[in-house]
Amino acid sequence: MMQAKVWLEKLQQLPRPAGRVAIMNVCGGHERSITMAGLRGVLPDYVRLVPGPGCPVCICPEGDIHAAIRLGLEDGALVCAFGDMLRVPINRGRAEVRSLEQAHASGADIRPVASPMEAVALAQQNPQRQVVFFAAGFETTMAPVAAMLAQQPPDNLTVWLAGRLTWPAVSLLLESGTPGFDALVAPGHVATVMGPEEWDFVWQHHGIATAVAGFLPDSLLAAFYSVLRQVSSGQPMLDNCYAEVVRAGGNPFAKQILQQVFEVVDAPWRGVGTIPASGYAISEAYGGWDARRRFPHQCQDEGDEQMPPGCDCARVVMGKLEPVACRLYQTACTPRTPVGPCMVSDEGACRIWWSGGVRK
Ligand code: SF4
Repeated sequence: MMQAKVWLEKLQQLPRPAGRVAIMNVCGGHERSITMAGLRGVLPDYVRLVPGPGCPVCICPEGDIHAAIRLGLEDGALVCAFGDMLRVPINRGRAEVRSLEQAHASGADIRPVASPMEAVALAQQNPQRQVVFFAAGFETTMAPVAAMLAQQPPDNLTVWLAGRLTWPAVSLLLESGTPGFDALVAPGHVATVMGPEEWDFVWQHHGIATAVAGFLPDSLLAAFYSVLRQVSSGQPMLDNCYAEVVRAGGNPFAKQILQQVFEVVDAPWRGVGTIPASGYAISEAYGGWDARRRFPHQCQDEGDEQMPPGCDCARVVMGKLEPVACRLYQTACTPRTPVGPCMVSDEGACRIWWSGGVRK
């Protein structure tokens, strides 16, 4: 792998296009690396880097969060979730309980976990209790959840699944006719699991330059160079700039286990709407561990998935608005006082830009 400096020099030598070139990424890890390494400041001025739909917590339906809150408060379940979900605010429910963190303060047993196996351990340590693992994430996060369920965890553990697939959101943008980007840097971790071919539709059907990138600046710069060269030559393709990890076909075991345990369904994205074939649901064969089946009375809060009032997260997530363009950024909304999920999650663009020192 060439060093970042070398890629940067090659980038500078590319012919200058007539207009600006917007390159979208769809991965919170990419956006973090771009922001923390200051890549926006070193690229040619005609390049605009756009953070896109790369934060599963940001688009997690508030109905799901509300269900998790009520599972803790009303059903007395021990609810565990990945840590950045705990502070995500919702609009519905009692005013003093508008996040899992507030539910915890109100007496619910809410615990952060870092992996599905920690949820299993909680169930084993609390055999008399119902333990609900509220699991949001993209394909890479969902594969270990599926693997955990395939191992038949304890009966007192169920999963409230809020898993999503990344490519349908990109497809939605491209089908809209105004995608807001001229080139795509596809997520390396998703391609590791699902295979880089999943992103072929971007260049084959839409003529958009595409490259898979890893998380280090040199891999991202290689991908930027690749897509800019594709744009300048007018010959789009899919370039794998993370070949040391991403293999053709992806990870067969992970794909098989995802297929075995989950079904792909139409799913709501908070503030965006329902995206066809963009969600995972637990299949019938593993229905005994599905929290929606065990607690059906908590499934009645679906629909009308709004962001908090004044919060532009939905447009930020879809690459339509830069975080600093939200009028609440830095005024009412900071990591200490987050208004929307994009300022809460480590993968949210607002949080990442704030952490990187970006101010209005
Ligand atoms: Fe939402 Fe805050 Fe981001 Fe604005 S700055 S889009 S209110 S999270």
